[in-house]
Amino acid sequence: MINIILLGPPGAGKGTQARKLVEERGMIQLSTGDMLRAAMGSGSEMGKKVADVMSRGELVTDEIVIGLIEEQIKTAGGNGFIFDGFPRTLPQADALGQLLARNGASLNAVIEMRVDDAALVRRITGRFTCGNCGEVYHDETKPTKVEGTCDECGSHDLKRRADDNAESLKTRLMEYYKKTSPLIGYYYAQGDLFGVDGLAEIDEVARQMAEILDQQA
Ligand code: ADP
Ligand code: ADP
Ligand code: ZN
Repeated sequence: MINIILLGPPGAGKGTQARKLVEERGMIQLSTGDMLRAAMGSGSEMGKKVADVMSRGELVTDEIVIGLIEEQIKTAGGNGFIFDGFPRTLPQADALGQLLARNGASLNAVIEMRVDDAALVRRITGRFTCGNCGEVYHDETKPTKVEGTCDECGSHDLKRRADDNAESLKTRLMEYYKKTSPLIGYYYAQGDLFGVDGLAEIDEVARQMAEILDQQA
């Protein structure tokens, strides 16, 4: 069982790589962004509470996301967790350490995905996803083979995220640098930090990740 964190700014490629690891290694992807969007879609009280904060690109409270992760860690089985978009603050990182320890687990690697800001703008403004199976696409770097149809499941329900615009991205990047990037030092100090070149092609990033994971096995 290998537990990893994918750490990187919005658009770095965390979701894309997490999905590949799920497919190839049977790991479980825990994306707090996906969980929050699901809560919004279901119209729950919590979903309503976070909608505005998310559309502005600010972080939701630590309490909410820690609660979401706690539920999943308790119930999910599988071949290790991929934490995608969590933790994003130092209190979240502390909480994750405690949650794992309480469940007799620990963290194997934190993989920092390095990408520059100019590339992130292109990544975010070109992103769309399949509403049925969750596959992630890009207008230029990863278009569907047939326009308007998901390669994986054939659905025509392709959509763009409300917060994937230049304005909200500016806030999301600042939130990342202020609140999330300190985690790089935190995990470096613990000896858990690894890095990949997030600007490389999708398959090359996956290869660099596999190398890191295979060292842990
Ligand atoms: P991205 O793919 O751009 O990295 P996510 O889907 O991970 O974005 O997150 C979308 C939004 O959900 C964030 O801008 C934030 O409002 C909220 N969010 C997701 N994960 C967290 C978290 N761990 N802590 C606080 N807010 C979060
Ligand atoms: P994150 O989960 O970190 O926000 P995503 O995995 O959703 O990032 O990727 C953001 C966008 O960039 C998507 O449109 C995706 O198809 C594209 N993308 C992801 N990785 C790469 C890559 N290595 N090269 C080019 N485009 C990529
Ligand atoms: Zn699909």
